[in-house]
Amino acid sequence: MNAKDQPRGGDIRPTIALLVRLQETELEIRKLRHELAGVDQRVAALEAGLHGERAALEAVRERLQQIGARNRSLESDLKDFQAKIEHSREKLRGVKTNKEYQSGLKEIEDLTAMTARVEDEMLALMEEAEAAQRDLREREATLKSRTAEIEAEKAVVLEEAERSRLRLQELEGRSRELAAQIPEAVLGRFRRVQGAKKDGVAVAPVTGAVCRGCNVNIPPQMYNELQRRDRLQNCPNCERIVYWKEDDDRPE
Ligand SMILES: [Zn+2]
Repeated sequence: MNAKDQPRGGDIRPTIALLVRLQETELEIRKLRHELAGVDQRVAALEAGLHGERAALEAVRERLQQIGARNRSLESDLKDFQAKIEHSREKLRGVKTNKEYQSGLKEIEDLTAMTARVEDEMLALMEEAEAAQRDLREREATLKSRTAEIEAEKAVVLEEAERSRLRLQELEGRSRELAAQIPEAVLGRFRRVQGAKKDGVAVAPVTGAVCRGCNVNIPPQMYNELQRRDRLQNCPNCERIVYWKEDDDRPE
């Protein structure tokens, strides 16, 4: 009753068309901004892929240094034992008693056993060092090729981002142009709803008497009014600006 008595405005279709285009443009802007915000993270994630390989390489280098240090210490032990063996042999030549002789022999025997243990360890270290060297060379080659791959991937991501930035500028220009064509009061109404909606959707079609913004039925009287397309209406449920979309409507 009351709605029917309201003065009719002009055809709202051009305004709706502008709002729909503005919304499409701004939704794409939103998407691009979101994508661009993730670029730094994507680049960091790519670089992080190399951290593990670099760390493994460092661990091998460190182990080789440890082996070198241990080897030098064993070499010095070896010299020390040889000098002691020489000394014991010399002493043995001058001993007076059998007891002294036996104890001298025991000393040489112990030092010889210690020498053998050191030599065994040095041999094991040498083998380990050779394997570590091979491992190091492989890891260096892998890291080099992985670095090249990641640099290439990074270049693609950054190139995409650059394209997105250009597209964003273009869309921002379009959005300003479209907004400038929309009556201020209508734009204000659109912005208020847009600001309140997480998905940024402020204008929605109504098809089959259902608001496609929230999928709730439009009351019959309002639905009839919508079909006149002579004034802007908001969905009573989600408050989005709604318009009747004929093509998709169910036949009566
Ligand atoms: Zn709705």
